[in-house]
Amino acid sequence: MVLESSRSQKTARCLIGCGANIGARRQQLDQAIDMLRFMPGVQILRVSQFLETRPVGGLPGQPPYLNAACLIETTFEPIEVLDMLLAIENTLQRSRETRWGPRTIDLDLLLYEDCVLTTERLQVPHPRMTTRRFVLEPAAEIASGLQHPVSQCTIGELLENILEPHLHIAVVGVPGSGAPEIADAIADVTLSRLIHAPAPLPVNGRDFSHDNQASQTRAPTEQLLHIAQQYAAPLLETQWPDDPHGTVTDYWIEAIRVATTLNTAIEPNKEFEEAFTAIIQKTVPPHVVLLLNVNQQTLAERVAYRSHASQQSDIFSDLIAVQAMTTTDQSIATLLTLQEHIAERLGNTEDKRFLPKAIIEIEADDLGKAALDAVAAIEGIS
Ligand code: ATP
Ligand code: MG
Ligand code: MG
Repeated sequence: MVLESSRSQKTARCLIGCGANIGARRQQLDQAIDMLRFMPGVQILRVSQFLETRPVGGLPGQPPYLNAACLIETTFEPIEVLDMLLAIENTLQRSRETRWGPRTIDLDLLLYEDCVLTTERLQVPHPRMTTRRFVLEPAAEIASGLQHPVSQCTIGELLENILEPHLHIAVVGVPGSGAPEIADAIADVTLSRLIHAPAPLPVNGRDFSHDNQASQTRAPTEQLLHIAQQYAAPLLETQWPDDPHGTVTDYWIEAIRVATTLNTAIEPNKEFEEAFTAIIQKTVPPHVVLLLNVNQQTLAERVAYRSHASQQSDIFSDLIAVQAMTTTDQSIATLLTLQEHIAERLGNTEDKRFLPKAIIEIEADDLGKAALDAVAAIEGIS
């Protein structure tokens, strides 16, 4: 018997997300789960109920989905689990014509123990699971206490997070990443309250206060605290709205502190740290972060576009503040370093209460595609 022979082998618990929206959906889900059941090296521990959900992303007008989750124990390695899932999908005539297109069956590896891995073919935990209600609801039914190793919270907590009555969604990226534009797109679709950064992110090395005459007399750390206060004002916990549309911001206050660490003109000290923390603690931290990532070429193009004297459009206007930096090469290098540090800090904020539970990384070199990805990530919430 499989179980007997595999008893001495190391087993891993995996959470699988299942979905179907064409054909005999229920039957296809049943068949997929049966195939898992009879696979040597796999034991099914729990299967959720099937949940009818509306389609998210992809072409409009798709039929509704039936979603489920399945908890298994297996002797397979992560990549072998993926190959098994793809083989089952093939057997059930899964075709891939358009991204997020209609399918007879979709089987995604959501979690594999506490494994965190990114290869060309496989990313675990599944990178889009934390804002998908159609994934988290069935998953919470069968494995609510299972830990998501990146967010460090359980499936139940992840579901609770996106069910908050008034969500704070933050689009986070360096100037030129397209954060204001993506935030606009999300607010349009979700009718959310939209808040743009009240002041530019202080990325400007030696003379970040250059064009701010009034603040020239203040010490740099005082100026930073002033900016942090401006960022915090619309996000105060005591004044947090309760309507269901949510708030979309195009900034993360903590990014000010990250920028500070790159700023040679500023020496943060204990008082500054404490004052900064006190400001952040009065705010509602983002429940969901859409983290934009851009490459060097994109930034170079956007900085060049922005610096063109006759430029009339206000796209990438958050780069205006960066233009004062000595050379373009220098400013792009600074932005790339800042991007890296912001991503690191998001995964590693000292106070766990301020660590966003759902972080979705979005490649933002193509702004149109990034907007679609961002909107799909947010639409998955409801
Ligand atoms: P989404 O991943 O957003 O749910 P999808 O399920 O429709 O979209 P697919 O067409 O099923 O996407 O998968 C495309 C590819 O994603 C697969 O061929 C696989 O190599 C890759 N992939 C990466 N990580 C995973 C994962 N954790 N689970 C399943 N497929 C993954
Ligand atoms: Mg999928
Ligand atoms: Mg899939």
